[in-house]
Amino acid sequence: MDIAQQIRILVKVQALDAQIYNLRKDKEAKPMELDRLKEGLEERRDELNKSQEELKRLQLDRKAKEVELATKEEEVKKHQSQLYQVKTNKEYAALQKEIEGLKADNSVMEEEIINLLDEIDRVNEEISKEKDVFSIEEAKFKEAEVRVEQELKKIEGFLGGLNSERATLTPQVDSSILAKYERILANKDGLAMVKVQNDACQGCHINVPAQVINEIKLANGLVICESCSRILYIEE
Ligand SMILES: [Zn+2]
Repeated sequence: MDIAQQIRILVKVQALDAQIYNLRKDKEAKPMELDRLKEGLEERRDELNKSQEELKRLQLDRKAKEVELATKEEEVKKHQSQLYQVKTNKEYAALQKEIEGLKADNSVMEEEIINLLDEIDRVNEEISKEKDVFSIEEAKFKEAEVRVEQELKKIEGFLGGLNSERATLTPQVDSSILAKYERILANKDGLAMVKVQNDACQGCHINVPAQVINEIKLANGLVICESCSRILYIEE
C-alpha cells in the first residue's frame, strides 16, 4: 500500500487513539477520586478516635477524684467522731480546724467533679456528632466505590470496542510506519497525526514551509513537523 493510503489509515487510527488516550486518562484518574474520599474518611475517623480517648481520660479523672473525695469524707467523719474524745480545748480547736480544712478541700474537689461532668457531657455530644458525620462520609465513600466500579466497567467496554476497531486498521500499515506513529503518539500526549491547515501545523500552530507542504503532497515518506515532531498530513 502506498504512503498516501497508509497516511489516510493512520488518520483514522489517530481518531480512535485520541479517544483511547482520553479514556485511559479517565480510567487512571478514577481511583484517585476514591483516594480523596478515603483520606477524608480517615481524617474523620482520627477525630472520632481522639474524642473517644479524651472521653476515656476525663472519665478516669472523674473516677479518681470521686475515690479521693470519698476517702476525704471518711476522714472528716473520723475526725468528727474524735471530737468527742479530746480532752482539752486546745486539742478540740486543732481538730476542728483540721476538719474545716478538709471540708474546704472537699468542696473544691466537688466543684472539680462537677466541671468534669460538664466536660464529659460536652465530649459525649461531640462524639455523637462526629459519629453522624462519619457515617454520612462512609456512605458517600461506599456509593462512590460502586459508582467508580460501574464507570470503570463502562470505560473498559468503550476501550474494548475502540481497540477492536483499531485492530482492523493497523494491519494495513507497514510495521515500521506504525511503530514510528506509536512512538510519537506515546511521546506527544496521544496526538501523532496533525493536519496542515492555512499553512500551519495544527499541533503546534507553527508555519509549515512550502517545501515541506510539497513533500507531504509527494508522499514519498512520513513528513514530520520540524517544530513539534508530529506526522503532518493534508486533508483532501
Ligand atoms: Zn507541529
